[in-house]
Amino acid sequence: MSLDSHTLYLIATMVAAMLGAMLLFFGGQENNPALKWWGTAYLLGAASVALWTLAGHLLNDMLSLAIGAVGFIACGMIWNAARVFHGRKPNLPGLVLGAIAWIGAATLLDPAAAALRVTIGAAIVALYAVLTAMELWSERRRTLKRRWPAIVVPVLHGFVLMLPILIGDFLLAPGEKFAGSLWATVFSIELVLYAIGTVFVIFMLVSERTVTAHKNAASMDPLTQMLNRRGFAEACGRVIEREATAGRPVTVMIFDIDHFKSINDRFGHPAGDEILKLFSAVIVNNLRISDLSGRIGGEEFAALLPCSLEEGVIVAERVREAFEASGIVCEDGAVDTTVSIGVAGGPAGTELEVLLAAADTALYQAKRGGRNRVEAAEELPLSLEKWRRTTAGLPAHARARPVVA
Ligand code: GH3
Ligand code: MG
Ligand code: MG
Repeated sequence: MSLDSHTLYLIATMVAAMLGAMLLFFGGQENNPALKWWGTAYLLGAASVALWTLAGHLLNDMLSLAIGAVGFIACGMIWNAARVFHGRKPNLPGLVLGAIAWIGAATLLDPAAAALRVTIGAAIVALYAVLTAMELWSERRRTLKRRWPAIVVPVLHGFVLMLPILIGDFLLAPGEKFAGSLWATVFSIELVLYAIGTVFVIFMLVSERTVTAHKNAASMDPLTQMLNRRGFAEACGRVIEREATAGRPVTVMIFDIDHFKSINDRFGHPAGDEILKLFSAVIVNNLRISDLSGRIGGEEFAALLPCSLEEGVIVAERVREAFEASGIVCEDGAVDTTVSIGVAGGPAGTELEVLLAAADTALYQAKRGGRNRVEAAEELPLSLEKWRRTTAGLPAHARARPVVA
């Protein structure tokens, strides 16, 4: 089978141009600067390769140098697109350094040393490919399993480009020119595969990010930036499982701001929202990094601590005191900031629902006992089903005591 490398380069160019236009289009639609960088890089790269392939022999030295430089800038843009994708600033000196090195090497080298020129050009492209792979590698975090194509594609690209350097030019018959050699064919095929492979990687990364953003949005409370009920329950499930394996107890608490309705009525709903944010900050500031917390209802919050009930009560008391001390005075008078807290602890592996039910009962006692206080559950409900049936339809802290054996 004979493959014409000119035709192959042309196909590579058209594929890259089409993908570039597609990336720019999506970048504009999604307002994603990284996609715009990638798209521009593809278009520049395609233009550079097309001019080189179609009109290379017609160009003077200066023009062909410039066209080569544009190609290297395109490679630098692919690397910078990965940086921008990760929220980093584009590295502008790095972007043009490859092109400068190329112009420097091409002007300083003996015009007869064409093979060396090609080698230097391939090395620059390979270096950008490795930088791109490193950029994606440094951001792998927990998603390594799904990220492997993002690293493998540019590394493979760099490797293919460096092959002639690594194994010498023994595939080049003596006196044979690069343009008509097997390498030229290999490179052009590789270029098509790389262009398509990279777009696959780009869309994989973008979709992974979108899925994560939606997932986070589904488990976050937008007002306080805390976990919502669903996010809290999911996170608790993992912690409870981990603590159960280690045989350690867990403690759950429910916080309910006192007379919150009257805060809204007196100071307005926006002021009420500010109090909710203030309280979420008080919780976060008074818990440890290993503790979980979330907003599970309007003015109800919950926390899960990997500790005993006694330790949990101390933490709850600390939160209560801090919130009380953060009381604010506005034009219309003093805003009372007090909270009632119900705490429940259980042995390793106790279900979240059971702990929450017991904490809720303790909260009810705290409300009945005069509010602004912490109450600990004496026991856990043994029959959650029965407790649910007795309390169905009642407001949170007006529920009956759970049935205890
Ligand atoms: P108690 O001391 O018994 O807990 O009394 P309370 O007034 O705090 O309890 P109640 O359950 O009667 O009222 C809760 C109020 O919380 C009613 C609701 O309007 C308000 N609320 C719920 N979500 C929000 C919110 O996102 N922002 C504001 N500002 N208020 C909210
Ligand atoms: Mg409430
Ligand atoms: Mg309340």
